[in-house]
Amino acid sequence: MSRVDGAKSNPNLLSPEWRCTRCDKLLGVCRDGRMHLRFARGHEYFVGFPVQATCRGCETLNQAQSPAR
Ligand SMILES: [Zn+2]
Repeated sequence: MSRVDGAKSNPNLLSPEWRCTRCDKLLGVCRDGRMHLRFARGHEYFVGFPVQATCRGCETLNQAQSPAR
C-alpha cells in the first residue's frame, strides 16, 4: 500500500509496457504474467510467453521472453 521510493532509478523493471526495440512504439502491456496485445479495430489478445509481435510502425519483429519485472 506504500510507494516504493527510489524506484525511478530503474523504470524498466516497473513498467509493464512492451515496446518495439527499434522505434519504441508500444506493442503490448504485461498483465498478470501474460502479455496484453491490442490491435486495430478493437482486437485484443492475452498471450503467454515467449511472445512475438510485429511492430505496426516499423515492421520489426519483436520478442519478449518473459514477463517484465
Ligand atoms: Zn517499431
